[in-house]
Order: sequence, then structure tokens, then C-alpha cells
Amino acid sequence: MREIEANINIIGGGLIGAVTAYSLSKLGNKVVVLEQNAKFNHKKILDKRTTAISEGTKKFLQEINIWNEIGKYAEPIKNIQIIDRNQSNKIYFDNQRRKSNLGYIVKNQFILDSLYKKLQKQKNVEIFNNVSVNDISYEGNRIITKQNNLFVNTNILFAADGKNSSIRKIYKTPIYRKDYKKKAIVINFYHSKNHHNTAYEFFFKNGPLAILPMQKSKSEFQSSIVWTNTNKFINSLISLDNNKIISILNEKTQGSIGEVKKIITKQTFPLNAHLNSKFFEKRIIYLGDSAHSFHPIAGQGWNLGMQDVESLYNLVKKYNSLGLELGDDIFCNEFQKDNFFKAYRLYQITDKVDSVFKLDNTIFNHARFSAINLIEKSKKLKNQISDFAMGVN
Ligand SMILES: Cc1cc2nc3c(=O)[nH]c(=O)nc-3n(C[C@H](O)[C@H](O)[C@H](O)COP(=O)(O)OP(=O)(O)OC[C@H]3O[C@@H](n4cnc5c(N)ncnc54)[C@H](O)[C@@H]3O)c2cc1C
Repeated sequence: MREIEANINIIGGGLIGAVTAYSLSKLGNKVVVLEQNAKFNHKKILDKRTTAISEGTKKFLQEINIWNEIGKYAEPIKNIQIIDRNQSNKIYFDNQRRKSNLGYIVKNQFILDSLYKKLQKQKNVEIFNNVSVNDISYEGNRIITKQNNLFVNTNILFAADGKNSSIRKIYKTPIYRKDYKKKAIVINFYHSKNHHNTAYEFFFKNGPLAILPMQKSKSEFQSSIVWTNTNKFINSLISLDNNKIISILNEKTQGSIGEVKKIITKQTFPLNAHLNSKFFEKRIIYLGDSAHSFHPIAGQGWNLGMQDVESLYNLVKKYNSLGLELGDDIFCNEFQKDNFFKAYRLYQITDKVDSVFKLDNTIFNHARFSAINLIEKSKKLKNQISDFAMGVN
């Protein structure tokens, strides 16, 4: 049996757990990460998705010195086209005003790979794989996890164990949940025309289809599609052979990136969203998807989780500099105060945007086309929307 004393115990070594571990270890804290999978092995990363990283997230990654790794794999988004049904109703965004990009597309595999590389060099971080936490107890102002002959004794525990958080289940923390009864299919593919760093989001009756520009691979143009549709449609789509899928994609993408030439990977994800009624329990803080998850319509789930991590980083920095102990009620309440409303707002926005674009009758279509026209003509509205998406407001 092994007993470890540290400041911070992080449950889950996914996109949020790994960046939390790195950022807090940089502040001098002794950090333990417990991950249920054998994930800290590059070859085992099975997530084929890409993530749209906002400018706000990039700035924080720069501050903690991770962007220099991740940035190598990032394809900038310079323009965004929002298309309602067909090319005649669209809004066009660029970012000439701020002279910066609108975001960056990176494969999740490369984000994790970069984080793990950095983490392995941190002497004050210990990572344990194949450890699934389900036993938590307290001794005075310490919180203790006991698993596989491993006792981890810390001031605070961060639950970064994803949207089906087992820590949340242990504490029975109530959540609001919405099952969209839909799936998203994520397809990475080669295509014939240069994407010119443009991201497209087509809104169809059964859900949005986003085309995200990726870095060239073997001198081929590459992009990723995230397409939401009914469970029935996505189940039948994924069962088709790739040539049939390609012809459907060619029709739906309306020539925006030329011809789809070859499918590289395809994966499906069930769509649901949730919001914890609170973001903490005794000496425990929920981070990222364990606290909140959203409809991927705006590609903001990880970015919002990164805002949690940034706020936590600043809070821990303050407590460390004042010599205060992490994890008491005041600390946890302060985290909740800084982060709950932002998540509630995004939960509402993503849900409402999805409903507005789904409505499909003459009156609603007319109202929506007029609203799109209005936004397209209003610089102020466009600036507000792009600032929100970039995470800089
Ligand atoms: C189709 C799709 C597209 C998306 N696109 C974007 C996008 O473009 N931009 C964006 O910002 N967001 C996007 N998101 C959201 C984003 O993927 C998530 O917000 C992000 O992955 C959450 O990371 P996480 O670390 O909180 O959770 P996870 O990635 O789920 O990681 C949780 C980790 O905890 C581990 N774990 C679970 N239980 C235990 C336990 N009991 N003990 C130990 N370990 C445990 C798991 O093995 C896992 O490694 C998208 C989501 C979907 C579904």
C-alpha cells in the first residue's frame, strides 16, 4: 500500500484535468492525478475530434506556457460563415477589427499529447493510470481517496471526471439535464479546395453542420465536420460505406470546400447537456464537463471549462501567496461565485440557438431570415457575437 500527501488531488486526466494539473503545479503545488484509463499513453488516445479553441483560451494557454506546444498543431480560423439552410441567407464574420484570428482548430489528440509531454517534466506532479475513484473520506481539513492500495491525502480534490462524473454520483449533487435525443457525427476528411481558414456552420432543420478548417496533411487539404441530426439519421449514416457518405457530404456542404475526396475518421457522440446545481461539495470542486456540458453548436464546452481552470488558477495563486490553505468553504464559494453564472448563460444560449434554427415554418423562417439580414448589416451586433465566441468579453 502507498500513501501520498499532497496539496491537490485531480480525478480525471482528460482535457480539463491535464491542464489543471499543469497550471497548478506551475504555482508550486504538489499535485496528484488519478485517471481511470491508461490515457497518459499517446498511442491509446482514441478521441478523433478536433476542438475549436477560442482566443480567450489561447491567451491563458500562453500565460501558462502551453500554447508554444499546442500552437504547432493549430490551424487559425480567420473567417466564419453562418449559413441558414442555403447560401442566400448568411452572416459573414472576420476579425479585421481586432487584427486577430477568430479561433484555432486543433486535434484533441494533439492537445492531450502536448499536455502530457509538459506534465511528464513536472517533478511535483504524480500521475496514476487505471485508477477509478469511488471511495472518499475526510480527516480534519484533509480529503482522502482510497483506491487500488493507493491512499491520496490532500487539502482539496478537483473532480475533472467528465459529464458522467462518478464523484458527482457519490455526492448526489443535483443537476439540470437535457437529452437532445440526437447525435453528432464527427468526420475528418480530405477535400479538393483550399479552405482559406474559413469555418462554415450550416443550419438545417434537424441540426447544424459545421466544417472546421484543419492543418494540411501530406499536402492535402483537410477539414472536420461536426453534424448534428436525429439518432435514426446518424445511425443509418454511419452504417453506409464511405463512398455513399461522401456523396451525402458533397450535397450538404454545397461546394464550400470543393469535393470531399476521402474520409479519414468518423465517430459519433450522443447529445445531451447538463448543469450542476452547485459547483462544489465539501473540499471538492467540479471542473469542466463534470460541472457542465453543452450542445456543441457553438464549440464552447472546453473553452468554458478552460475559463473555470483560469479562474481556479488565479484563486489558487492568491491563496498560495497569502499562505492560506486551499479547499475550505470560503475558497469553494469564491470559485462558485466566479463561474456558475457563465456556465448557466452558455447553457441557455446554446440551447436557445439550437431551438431557433430548428423551427421550420413560413413565419419562423421569415423572422429568422430577417434577423440574419439584420445581423449581417450591423457591425455592432457582429462584433458582440464574435467577441462572445472568442471568449474575450
Ligand atoms: C462532438 C463534440 C464536439 C465538441 N467540440 C468542441 C469544440 O470545438 N470546442 C470546445 O471548446 N468544446 C467542444 N466540445 C466539448 C469538449 O469536448 C468537452 O467540454 C471536453 O472534452 C471536456 O473535457 P473534460 O476533461 O472535462 O472531460 P473528459 O474529456 O470527459 O475527461 C474526463 C476524464 O476523466 C476520466 N474519469 C472519469 N471517471 C473517472 C473516475 N471515477 N476516476 C478516474 N478518472 C475518471 C475519464 O477517463 C476522462 O479521461 C465538443 C463536444 C462534443 C461532444
